[in-house]
Amino acid sequence: MDGWSGVEGFELLLPKKVVFGWGRRAELAELAKGLGRRAWIVCGSRTLQKNGVLDELVQQLDEVGIDSELLVTVRREPLVEDVDRVVAELLKQKPGERDFVLAVGGGSAVDLAKAVAALVVNADGRSVVDFLEGVGKGLKITRPPLPVLAVPTTAGTGSEATKNAVISNLDPPFKKSLRSEFMVPPLVLIDPELSVSVPPETTTYTGMDAVTQLVESYVSRRAKPVPQALAWKGLELALPAIERVVKNGEDREARERMALAAFLSGVALANSGLGLAHGVAAALGVHAGVPHGLACAVMLPVAVRVNLEVRLDEFAQMGTLLTGKQWSRDLPEHSKRELAETFLTCLTELCRRLNIPQRLSELGVKREQLPAVVQSSRGNSMSGNPRQLTDEELHELLEEML
Ligand code: NAD
Repeated sequence: MDGWSGVEGFELLLPKKVVFGWGRRAELAELAKGLGRRAWIVCGSRTLQKNGVLDELVQQLDEVGIDSELLVTVRREPLVEDVDRVVAELLKQKPGERDFVLAVGGGSAVDLAKAVAALVVNADGRSVVDFLEGVGKGLKITRPPLPVLAVPTTAGTGSEATKNAVISNLDPPFKKSLRSEFMVPPLVLIDPELSVSVPPETTTYTGMDAVTQLVESYVSRRAKPVPQALAWKGLELALPAIERVVKNGEDREARERMALAAFLSGVALANSGLGLAHGVAAALGVHAGVPHGLACAVMLPVAVRVNLEVRLDEFAQMGTLLTGKQWSRDLPEHSKRELAETFLTCLTELCRRLNIPQRLSELGVKREQLPAVVQSSRGNSMSGNPRQLTDEELHELLEEML
């Protein structure tokens, strides 16, 4: 038999429509027509302004009678003050039924757009802080946001498919999510060609974010069958492609593989949750300013090691992806362990070849910051980790990585 042991009930959240394909940004205006007549643009990179991509999109919108205005160009992972400022600016324009938000950029732009679109309708003069998980007043997004058309240009976060936006603050330091099922962007346009201009270092970090999301969602405590199947597909796509795309950013097949894998990682995380690597990555972002994808990449091999015994079958399956060996549920325990350990070794070597540091001190983390890092690691992501770690165990783990 195939090991079927029944399935718990589940729900599945997805964008309403996803358009994927090389060069398909040419279809933006046709798609946007159904959303409204005025587009507020959140742009994620100056490169997209300099290389003509943004102008090309604006012109397309203009040709079908959609007015557009650049609301903001994102310069960092979004902070509370960025969200509140942009919400206030947009409210001055009295957005209504004809308005929608167009996000063109990486996860930072897509997250900012999602947060702004939700809060313009729901904030009623309050700060985004009041709506953030774990730090705010627990306020909820109760009214549908302005529609968001998400055009991701990094292949990493999968934010185009998720129900949350990650928002940081410097003082007090935190990195938390604004989360609501209303926030899954209804319309997503993924043109992998838009990621060709992403420089190699960012390609590495964003790609490793996607890989981490695929691995962590696959083994998460909240893993569900459909997102698991998608995460598996994502791993098949991403693992052979990530080094290729870093070496040659113009490798079309590798860009396509990574863009699709990133989208699948978003669907997987939105529906299955994540784990330790993402929990700690958020804290490293807050306390040491580490870019999100880099922090994920540093933590991924450690997270695999920590969870290896409790998810032996799953990591052994991942081992077959890298070794070409056959997977069978009936393999003896020692063969499964060997495969799982091969996966961990290959992953560690991949990170080394991609110049991912292994030590937290290389990221600027100091011993005295560890208690705060431990505290900030707690949250939605960490709650999906297969093995539950106490604060002491997590502290010890991070101390070993210093
Ligand atoms: P990013 O959006 O911050 O972009 C990284 C860099 O790439 C920036 O300098 C940006 O200007 C540049 N860039 C983007 N597109 C480019 C292009 N086409 N050409 C050249 N340069 C380009 O990075 P990211 O990793 O995509 O997003 C990170 C953020 O997303 C973090 O805040 C993270 O916490 C969040 N995130 C959100 C989710 C979610 O589900 N909402 C999931 C994972 C991560």
